Formats: sequence, structure tokens, C-alpha cells
Amino acid sequence: MLHFHWKCMMVPVKIIDYLVVHELCHMHIRDHSGDFWNEVEKVMPDYQERKMWLRKQGAGLDL
Ligand SMILES: [Zn+2]
Repeated sequence: MLHFHWKCMMVPVKIIDYLVVHELCHMHIRDHSGDFWNEVEKVMPDYQERKMWLRKQGAGLDL
């Protein structure tokens, strides 16, 4: 689980959307299994691009 209130002020809206979707998907699936990412992708087909952004920023430990 992530805590998306953290650092949100520094993050583009597109990325915040991703964090919200990520969090919502955790309401159905608690872990980061393949099923979880399928769920994210259904809602947000370009999530990987956003996930990549977070990784580049060094912000995400487990996003
Ligand atoms: Zn997560």
C-alpha cells in the first residue's frame, strides 16, 4: 500500500491520478500481483508511463 497524500504537491496531476487509481485497485487486490496490474491497466492503459515517471524521480519505493 502507498500513502498518496505524501509529496503530492510536487507531483503533476497525471501522476496523482495514477496514485489514486493505484490506491483504488488495492481495495480489490492487496498485493502487486499480475492481477493487480491488469486491474490498473484496465482503468488506466498508460499507467506504465506514469509509473516510469515516478521511478525516474526516485519517489517510488513500491509504486
Ligand atoms: Zn501499491
